[in-house]
Amino acid sequence: MSATPTCAPLFITMHDADNVAIVANDGGLPAGTEFPSGLTLVDKVPQAHKVALVDIPEGGEVRRYNVVIGYALKPLPAGTWVHERLLKMPPARELVGLPIATIKPEPQPPLEGYTFEGYRNLDGSVGTRNILAITQTVQCVAGVTDFAVSRIKSELLPKYPNVDDVVALEHTYGCGVAIDAPDAIIPIRTLRNISLNPNFGGEVMLVSLGCEKLQPERLMPPGTIPLIDERNVADVGSSADAKLDVVCLQDDAHVGFMSMVESIMRQAEEHLERLNARRRETVPASELVVGVQCGGSDAFSGVTANPAVGYCTDLLVRAGATVMFSEVTEVRDGIDQLTSRATTPEVAEAMIREMAWYDAYLDKGRVDRSANTTPGNKKGGLSNIVEKAMGSIVKSGSSPISGVISPGEKLKQKGLIYAATPASDFICGTLQLAAGMNLHVFTTGRGTPYGLAEVPVIKVATRADLARRWHDLMDINAGTIATGEKTIADVGWEMFQLMLDVASGRKKTWAEHWKLHNALVLFNPAPVT
Ligand code: CA
Repeated sequence: MSATPTCAPLFITMHDADNVAIVANDGGLPAGTEFPSGLTLVDKVPQAHKVALVDIPEGGEVRRYNVVIGYALKPLPAGTWVHERLLKMPPARELVGLPIATIKPEPQPPLEGYTFEGYRNLDGSVGTRNILAITQTVQCVAGVTDFAVSRIKSELLPKYPNVDDVVALEHTYGCGVAIDAPDAIIPIRTLRNISLNPNFGGEVMLVSLGCEKLQPERLMPPGTIPLIDERNVADVGSSADAKLDVVCLQDDAHVGFMSMVESIMRQAEEHLERLNARRRETVPASELVVGVQCGGSDAFSGVTANPAVGYCTDLLVRAGATVMFSEVTEVRDGIDQLTSRATTPEVAEAMIREMAWYDAYLDKGRVDRSANTTPGNKKGGLSNIVEKAMGSIVKSGSSPISGVISPGEKLKQKGLIYAATPASDFICGTLQLAAGMNLHVFTTGRGTPYGLAEVPVIKVATRADLARRWHDLMDINAGTIATGEKTIADVGWEMFQLMLDVASGRKKTWAEHWKLHNALVLFNPAPVT
């Protein structure tokens, strides 16, 4: 039994202009509770849910984060529990007339002297783990690859102690799809770029069936793999002759299942030998490429964990590192905050282009913005996507936004980057992997055991109660911000230090400890045939 501190009734307001606040106490508060301010609850209000601070008339604006998150569907007297059934969602902001690169923040002093121990790659990127990844061109080969990977792990990996893991890059793409459709570029480049993630050391090997639409040369055209090119140039004198390492299951040479498995194992061992020779070296913190994400969010996400991530984002940017924030549908309602923070009009225009593409994508599927927010979000106090977005966007901190990439693209520059992805946890994580992420930060209020086999995932709990119950799944407790034990800056710094430890391999995340891995899910907006 661990004791939960009993606190005085407490609500948290995000902005002076807000007319609702959220109840902070574990278990919520009963009707009749009186706050020190004199406000008395009319209803029982669950933890993280909103209470009206003043009388709000029917049709009146309901403000949180100094943004209208809805209009009252009936009069809401002060002390009322304000939940989604009492609110009308405001319309989405049009993508015209937005403030473009209007905010010119004072440059923050550089943060120098922070380092971690990483694996430097030939292309200059740095890995935080040393993993053999086996790329599959098509789902058909997944069972065979999985069988071979089990044997590689038990029979070969013990001989190569400097290699952390062997991971099959399994996915559901590769055939039965309209591969020449314009949007097919997204899943194809995603898979290509994941194979080139810094944690895999440039050791690309493919397992192909043979008859699939996504042929190995289409997935990995000549020139995409720096290591192979260099090795081949040394061998044969021309990068045009660079050979992909492909095990093709339909190859005539294979007689029987074990022939395929042994072929995969034989090829894998060549890569394991080279990976095993890699050593960590001290590199500046600027080599971190951090993807930030949230999932299973609640109303505390935007109060505790996400602001702490935002603080840490600013530290990373000051240290010269790269931070990606994503999740189109969860920042769409704050588009004006983003375009105003763009370093140049071009960056702002690129963000608008990504949002417009996604608006059209949702229109095509005949869904609207109510499609994002889950039953759990609502139970956690988030009334709609506007409120969720305001809490989500703070993960991006306050630094200028210096670049934008489209789904599946690889990063081309450092700094704070908007990497356009769906908000779906596994699709966003998959696309951030493709962008070149070497560390992942994930905040959750409802709780999710999310993890990836390819990069370490640091999970941050928004509430002390979740951190207590999921003590061996959550790496950081940001609930201490709501209880007043720590500040946003305290938790932001704690996160920054933990990142350097995890990136160096000195610490493992809980998801790594338990080997909790979600599937790679390729975003395929193109038709399936
Ligand atoms: Ca998400």
